[in-house]
Amino acid sequence: MKTIFEKSNGAEGIGVGEYKLGDFLPEDFLRKETIGLPQLSELEVMRHYKELSDRNFCIEKGFYPLGSCTMKYNPKVNELLASLDGFANLHPLQSDEDAQGALELMFNLQEALKKITGMDAVTLQPAAGAHGELTGMMIIKKYFETKGELNRTKVIVPDSAHGTNPASAKMCGFDIVEVKSNSKGQVDIEALKQLLDKDVAAIMMTNPNTLGIFEEKVLKISELMHQNGSLLYYDGANFNAIMGWTNPALMGFDIVHLNLHKTFATPHGGGGPGAGPVCVVEKLKEFLPSPVVEFAGGKYFRSYNLKHSIGKVRSFYGNFGVLVRAYAYILMTGNNLKLASADAVLNANYLKEKLKNAYELPFDEPCMHEFVLSGERQHQQGVSTLGIAKRLMDSNFHPPTVYFPLIVHEAIMIEPTESESKDVLDNFVDTMLKIAEEIEKNPEEVLKSPKTTPVKKVDETLAARHPDLTFKN
Ligand SMILES: *Cc1c(COP(=O)(O)O)cnc(C)c1O
Repeated sequence: MKTIFEKSNGAEGIGVGEYKLGDFLPEDFLRKETIGLPQLSELEVMRHYKELSDRNFCIEKGFYPLGSCTMKYNPKVNELLASLDGFANLHPLQSDEDAQGALELMFNLQEALKKITGMDAVTLQPAAGAHGELTGMMIIKKYFETKGELNRTKVIVPDSAHGTNPASAKMCGFDIVEVKSNSKGQVDIEALKQLLDKDVAAIMMTNPNTLGIFEEKVLKISELMHQNGSLLYYDGANFNAIMGWTNPALMGFDIVHLNLHKTFATPHGGGGPGAGPVCVVEKLKEFLPSPVVEFAGGKYFRSYNLKHSIGKVRSFYGNFGVLVRAYAYILMTGNNLKLASADAVLNANYLKEKLKNAYELPFDEPCMHEFVLSGERQHQQGVSTLGIAKRLMDSNFHPPTVYFPLIVHEAIMIEPTESESKDVLDNFVDTMLKIAEEIEKNPEEVLKSPKTTPVKKVDETLAARHPDLTFKN
């Protein structure tokens, strides 16, 4: 008699084993040898991944002064909200009727972003800052096409711009024209005037720019551009610099992208997740990607009714979980959005003043949310900016952004954010001053760092020339 175990073990009636993979796939595609994956228990796998995650540096572990792209404030409660069943398990093909709550959230977020930027209409679709830039460039291109101004093929980009700016404009088919910065780290107006002709579609600007410096002549620039029939695009990736104090509409911009995953509280890294909503002035409203969320007759609905829409730029409706976090952050912070900017700017100026004697400060101006030092002096003493960044890791600091912006030699770009305490900032200052001192006395020793990280000093030339990309040999 068969035991219950034999019965349950058998393939009887289930059909497994009746087919071979070769029945479904061409023989040539089938693996000839076994893959050799390790045979491990669930516990062993869990411990392996936990150990890997412990090796990671993250905002939970320490200060993260990575200029521009840093982790700003990411409240943990946002994670809880984004994972609520009604948000996380909503199907994108559900009807408007079924998704009233989600649509209301999107509508309210659009309205909040309109207030914050001063713009008239919003799309939440783009999935990142660079994606927002591309969307913006597509809108600008179509705007001039509908006006019959096909000659407008050039986009002006300052030499301090984030690399994505020229890349996005180029991807959209525009020719890039670079405008120089002056000795104050701002767009050189005379140089800009020289570049203006009827072929210019737009200028892409970041204000404050990537040096953390506010473009004082921005109203003059917008006047010049508009007189020329061109548009102004605002890279608002780091909106924590001006939030609530001024906005791109007041500066004369026509189109803006925001990085919700930077300023508006989504943890990000390694490329995602993100959201780069694009906000536009009234005359560009009909060009937005569709659908946008509207409200009428007591109902929220997706509207495809945009006359010159550039079409969809992403599947479904954007990165919804990021939108939930941003909305929660805005509601939670309320009128204190202004205070968040004030603290970000105060913290950056504090660090700048404390560090500017030990390191070169090429543009000694009051800064906004970030500032850029140069490690040129230390470079001459034998330790480059890369060496400084690696030394910082030994004191449990994430390195700052280095070698960017390109117009500063040996650049060290520092952004403290609004959420760090004075103790943390002072600790960072002490470490940076100590490193400068060490470099003067004993540069050889500094070059041995990092020594305390899971992966110590690596041979970069070897790693670049002979990258080891397999998990076993
Ligand atoms: C981060 C950043 C971008 C690009 O945003 P992604 O979401 O990484 O594509 C563009 N401009 C500036 C100034 C940035 O800091």
